[in-house]
Amino acid sequence: MEGVPKDKILEDKALRHQFTRAESAAISQEAMNDNFVVPLYSHIVHTSGKENTVTGTGIRCAPQPSGAATLQDPVVAPLKSLPLPAAEAPIFSFGVITDVQYADIADGQSFRGVPRYYRHSLQVLRRAVNHWNQKRLVNFAVQLGDIVDGFCPKEESLPAVMKVLSEFNSLQCGTVYHILGNHCLYNLPRNQLNKLLKFPSWPNAHSYYDFTPSPNFRFVILDGYDVSAIGWPEEHAHRKAAIELLKQKNPNSDKNSPDGLIGEECRFVKFNGGVGEDQLIWLNQVLKDAVACRQKVIVCCHIPLHPGATSPNALLWNYNEVLDVIHQHNCVIACLAGHDHTGGYVIDSHGIHHRVLEAVLECPPGTNAFGHIDVFHDKLSLIGNDRMASVDMAFDPSH
Ligand SMILES: [Zn+2]
Repeated sequence: MEGVPKDKILEDKALRHQFTRAESAAISQEAMNDNFVVPLYSHIVHTSGKENTVTGTGIRCAPQPSGAATLQDPVVAPLKSLPLPAAEAPIFSFGVITDVQYADIADGQSFRGVPRYYRHSLQVLRRAVNHWNQKRLVNFAVQLGDIVDGFCPKEESLPAVMKVLSEFNSLQCGTVYHILGNHCLYNLPRNQLNKLLKFPSWPNAHSYYDFTPSPNFRFVILDGYDVSAIGWPEEHAHRKAAIELLKQKNPNSDKNSPDGLIGEECRFVKFNGGVGEDQLIWLNQVLKDAVACRQKVIVCCHIPLHPGATSPNALLWNYNEVLDVIHQHNCVIACLAGHDHTGGYVIDSHGIHHRVLEAVLECPPGTNAFGHIDVFHDKLSLIGNDRMASVDMAFDPSH
């Protein structure tokens, strides 16, 4: 079987090589073979002009611009020995979109100067739904958090949320599954959001759930703001725990600032959060059950779960605890996230794909950032539009 030689991987790592889509597919296949040692990655993340170097275990892969990436691109290793039928239909498909952050306010910019298009984001969402509706391209869609922006005037929060939801409701070919983001919680209380976003967990207070769209596949929706300084009532234990953690880890008076924090410690800012103990126990149980049912699992969370796929200041506080649980079970094939607007991608030490999706909010007028994922028995194909990069994510169907 042809693939990327292991010494080449190490050499490329030393050169801070960003792997191409074809290389990543080959590496992904290699990672599923025995005796494969995943090299250390070392890459530079450019986020809004600031440069961070991140090291750890995994392989950093560069998503390819859409248009350049088509289904005809060589998926090197598997196609050589096991050619797929030319027109294999996906088992099912789902739409993906994140960080719409709509507000009826003038364009602005992030605190690092990246332009933000608050009104245009609604148009991108409309184009996404229209695109998915065409030819009934998807069976459902997943919205990965932050549907409205924190700058939305408070009295307009509810109308803004309703406006975004009415766009999603135009999806004619299936349900939209939502995820809580920090900007949602800046606008409305958690309980109200849980109801508006139709979380199956409602009227329970928590915002995590799972669903099974096809007998052999399960989706796990995590709440990255379970332990958080935002979104809980003043006296809630999870809010108190979050405030205590930020006090210990972040010396700045503005807890949204990572100033002075180094590397992964930058994640201890108020706009991030963590997964609580009860949710970890629940996750463990769901994954155990998925293994028993021989299901492949896709985990979705607003906050990225792997440092190789995101800037460290957009990383889940206890990402390592969540990954520990995920790695105990041989069923998770991919983790999807939003929150880090530039997007990212890494394959971790267990061969799990971590894809952080590009944000709608930063699409200049006329451009888009949404996609759909075709699910096959041995790979997920993300087909992105404009600013959302396409990628094939191979997995071993035999596990
Ligand atoms: Zn966010």
